[in-house]
Amino acid sequence: MAQCSYCSITILFGAVEADGKVFCSERCRDSDRLLERARRVSFRQVVRKMNELHRGPCPKCRGPGPCDVHHSYKVWSFLLASKWVDLPQLSCRRCARKSQWEGLFASLLLGWWGVPWGVIITPLQVWRNVRALWGGPDPKRPSDELEKLVRVGLAGRQQAESGNGPEPPSLPATGSPV
Ligand SMILES: [Zn+2]
Ligand SMILES: [Zn+2]
Repeated sequence: MAQCSYCSITILFGAVEADGKVFCSERCRDSDRLLERARRVSFRQVVRKMNELHRGPCPKCRGPGPCDVHHSYKVWSFLLASKWVDLPQLSCRRCARKSQWEGLFASLLLGWWGVPWGVIITPLQVWRNVRALWGGPDPKRPSDELEKLVRVGLAGRQQAESGNGPEPPSLPATGSPV
């Protein structure tokens, strides 16, 4: 089965193809395009912003950090329809745990009531929450995912600031030339 080029989730159906890559959603396709542009954001800027976010305070509860990107997972079903989501959030560990427990119980309660996907996806989403509850990013350092988020955020801001004018002066690209 195909994996999303951006978030590496396994794509069961509804793949979005663009730029020779496969994505799970239009959101991931757009983020990937921004990430391409984000190669030009200065590394120092990225590190500064990343450390700032990582040390907290938590954007959700205003409590102390470290903060990072945490995931929780949900599924709900009704007869032939099932919907499941991966919900990333930037928060402290306590807020992340709360969302993951919520996701776990909501999935157990609401996930099963559809065929075939409810029955297949519910154990998967429960397992993903369990894995996230006992795993998750290393609190000692910002995760790669946080770096990605910061890069994409900064690139998006630069793009918004530059508007339709000339592209902002780019720093030497560290990756492959675009
Ligand atoms: Zn994706
Ligand atoms: Zn929090």
